[in-house]
Amino acid sequence: MRKNIVAGNWKMNKTFQEAEELIDQIVVGMEKNSLKCEVIACPPALYLEMASDYAEESRIHIGAQNVSEHEKGAFTGETAAPMLASVDIEYCIVGHSERRKYFHETNEQLAKKVDILLDYGIKPIFCCGEVLEEREKEIHFDVVKKQLEESLFHLNEDEFSNIVVAYEPVWAIGTGKTASPEQAQEMHAFIRSLIAEKYGTKTSDEVSILYGGSCNPGNAKTLFANKDVDGGLIGGASLKAEDFLKIASAFE
Ligand code: PEP
Repeated sequence: MRKNIVAGNWKMNKTFQEAEELIDQIVVGMEKNSLKCEVIACPPALYLEMASDYAEESRIHIGAQNVSEHEKGAFTGETAAPMLASVDIEYCIVGHSERRKYFHETNEQLAKKVDILLDYGIKPIFCCGEVLEEREKEIHFDVVKKQLEESLFHLNEDEFSNIVVAYEPVWAIGTGKTASPEQAQEMHAFIRSLIAEKYGTKTSDEVSILYGGSCNPGNAKTLFANKDVDGGLIGGASLKAEDFLKIASAFE
């Protein structure tokens, strides 16, 4: 069954103490409210083990923000999928636009990251989305289609059932400019139709497609009310437990 999901991408923020405080506040908040979604926190790599301990005792799920496409070896500074698996990490963001932009990650490299995560039983949260220039040129559907085809569509149906897709228009990330509910719905329906074409309607009905890009407590409800928007990948607003929990409460 398709799941509603709210995932927080903490990016490179918080000291260890602050991270522990934030996760603690989220977990306590989740105990008080019965949320109609799965909640995932994606803290920096250094804090994953601590966060994973919280997940053992509560309903929160933990994701990493990145993974190496290599299994092990001389790749200074990288984190490998077996390392994430060894501290029970359940999800991993793949292909965030900041990784594509600052670390020049390609669709081909992202396909390898998806594969190695699945090999280790970790579910990829695969980010796709166009930059402003691409939307202005009206090639945003082509861009997203290519990202999905080149990084995900080599998977078989069984493997694909472990994927969460996050549509994140790059022009909306961290800018305060949100896609309109209509723009989000239009792209999410398009993504779902591509998945249906490739894998059939059972798979496309079951995949969760999240929206990301300046989602906040004020706009989450109208975004999530769309039939193909199954939740959000939240950046800035995930750094305050109160805001994050309000977003996670936005499902009717
Ligand atoms: C993100 O980086 O995934 C994101 C959606 O950021 P923000 O919510 O801050 O726009």
